[in-house]
Amino acid sequence: MNKTIIVSNRLPLNISVSENELEITPSVGGLATGMKSVHSEGNGIWIGWSGINQDELSPDLSAKVDQEIRNEKCVSVSLSNQDVEEYYEGFSNRTLWPLFHYFMEYTQFERLEWEAYKRVNEKFAEVVLENLEDGDTVWVHDYQLLLLPQLIKDKRPNTTIGFFLHIPFPSFEIFRTFPWRKEILTGMLGADLLGFHTYDYERHFLSSVKRILRLDVHFNEISYHDRIVKVDSFPMGIDYDKYHNAALEHKSATKEKSDLSKRLEEHKIDGKKLILSIDRMDYTKGIPNRIKAFEYFLDTYPEYKEKVRLVMLTVPSRSNVPQYQKLKRETDELVGRINGKFASVSWTPIWYFYRSVPFDSIIDLYVSSDVALITPIRDGMNLVAKEYVATRTDLSGVLILSEMVGAAQEMNESLLINPNNFDDFANHLNQALTMPLKEQQTRMKNLQKRLKRYTVEKWAEEFFKSLDGTKQYKSSIAQKLSSVHEEALINDFHKKKKRLVLLDYDGTLVNFKDNPEDASPDEELYQLLDNIVKQEDTTLALISGRDKPTFQKWFGNKDYNLVTDHGVWLYQNNNWEALERLRTDWMKSIRPILETFVDRTPGTFIETKKYSLAWHYRTADPELARIRTIELNTVLTSMIANNDLNILKGNKVIEIKSSNVNKGRAVSRLLMQKDYDFIAVIGDDWTDEYMFEEAPDSAYTIKVGAAKTKAKFTLKNPDQVRQLLQKMKN
Ligand code: UDP
Repeated sequence: MNKTIIVSNRLPLNISVSENELEITPSVGGLATGMKSVHSEGNGIWIGWSGINQDELSPDLSAKVDQEIRNEKCVSVSLSNQDVEEYYEGFSNRTLWPLFHYFMEYTQFERLEWEAYKRVNEKFAEVVLENLEDGDTVWVHDYQLLLLPQLIKDKRPNTTIGFFLHIPFPSFEIFRTFPWRKEILTGMLGADLLGFHTYDYERHFLSSVKRILRLDVHFNEISYHDRIVKVDSFPMGIDYDKYHNAALEHKSATKEKSDLSKRLEEHKIDGKKLILSIDRMDYTKGIPNRIKAFEYFLDTYPEYKEKVRLVMLTVPSRSNVPQYQKLKRETDELVGRINGKFASVSWTPIWYFYRSVPFDSIIDLYVSSDVALITPIRDGMNLVAKEYVATRTDLSGVLILSEMVGAAQEMNESLLINPNNFDDFANHLNQALTMPLKEQQTRMKNLQKRLKRYTVEKWAEEFFKSLDGTKQYKSSIAQKLSSVHEEALINDFHKKKKRLVLLDYDGTLVNFKDNPEDASPDEELYQLLDNIVKQEDTTLALISGRDKPTFQKWFGNKDYNLVTDHGVWLYQNNNWEALERLRTDWMKSIRPILETFVDRTPGTFIETKKYSLAWHYRTADPELARIRTIELNTVLTSMIANNDLNILKGNKVIEIKSSNVNKGRAVSRLLMQKDYDFIAVIGDDWTDEYMFEEAPDSAYTIKVGAAKTKAKFTLKNPDQVRQLLQKMKN
């Protein structure tokens, strides 16, 4: 039975070892909840690090830990102290974390740690591969494992792989500074589906893919070698019922109030209000900023002195990373200074806790607070904001939320603020504290409605459905030319007596170059083509959009048939013949238009052919080129209507030529010349689809690269085409 393998840096377990005794408790975090049904189904397993350093365990105990972990349907990846230091604390938390959260000043690029990151991702891949069977699905989580999808795909190309990034993906301007940016992107592209919390992160990722890897992106699909990678946003939710029900229980008459709850309620007598913030002690959470903004608020609105209190729960995190230690010192000092500045004998403005608290206490805090102040400088999603909303069973309460968190995209009814703007901050806090109950309830109701529907279980379900949907790409793309098909093709070729081989040139026999003139044929290619054409009863035709003089120069002394200018000219038996009679008078009005596009789009140029004009944009900025191609298309479409012209969209080129010319017409002309019993057609782009259409059913039609096509088979790239031609040698 097929299973799902979940992979994350940490297993969803807490393991403690003391005096050779083991205690394992399942974790109750958001991800574990979301994955629960996926994990528990069938033979599903979860692969990750147990949190224990393998160096610290005796072999006996290590085996025992592994067994206990297995009993929980988990498999551990063992990491040494050095791995943890360099891969986890180092590269993950001192490079990727700050960079992806736009903290460039905290980002360090250490080659040694990068090597460790690669090494540990390979360790994870090994464990996944050991547990992977045909038909299994793999779902990889988060920034510690960005290279893992490709490592799995390389070894097991048929495995369906999903990847979800739980932190932001930064804009291209930030990501481009990363020394190993190509490796990270290609690592991620091993997945069939890439998920992000918000559309913005998705957009940033696609922009980097276009600009750094220069891949083609259509809407949210990336053509990558012979695959299509889908990218989408799935905002992660929470276990709504868990928080909502806990809050209901908190309020039930039978439940005894906790000490914390009593203390919080004491503060609220006489209409005093509590403002709550909860976050890990992390520089992305904007804690010092929040304290300073609160000071500004009390200075601006002194009437709130003695009337409000900020309850700030900060949870210790990564406390051996220097920046986190510095942040802790700064926070301590700021709280001290501000409490000192405003406190009276009966009131301190900030209650500051530096610890982690149990679930019940978190509920006490949520339920007792009139306002939640969630103001990170940058945060992938932020679940605290959602949990606060879920606990507001009477619909009272106001959520103030930073625009810089992922959750802001779907929590419009909160008061959205820019946390760096202290006036905005203070005014919204005032608005929250004076908001009429009716308005609070209307806002809260809408927020809850969405959260209740899009829970963490739903999030996992949606991702999974979409991942399953990617399997359909594999069937809509023509099948790969497997070794079995290849053998059949070659045998057939050698058996038959009237053979026709039709080959496109650019992107099929040679790789694209920035400048088309640089993609001239090499000695190996001449050899390969000669080997085919010198076999008896074989006709070889190169069918290209290239112009007649170029092909004359490259192939004029060969026995090949040549079709140039997309089907305008045919060269056979040392003779050029015009297949189509074409006009060129339109060029003088179209060229100036193309020139204005060249002027405004660096990296583009015009190629003038005898019967067509081509605007090339291969080296232009892909984002700008995308806009310009739409513009150009609009301009040209209105111009060509009465001119019998066609716009052809090739690979990073737009070509304008007289209509009714296409490679298909040239192919049908060649097919009529003889009763061929073997036909192979190979091409890579849109213009070659006409050839595939024209070929009879019995033909071997092969598309180079991934995309929807009329061809029967695909090959990855020109190298693979050349390997095939090599095998067709006598
Ligand atoms: N939390 C916790 N113990 C605490 C304080 C908070 O378990 O003492 C939980 C909180 O309920 C929330 C999570 O920690 O589920 C924080 O998630 P969030 O997305 O807000 O921030 P992250 O820490 O993932 O950056």
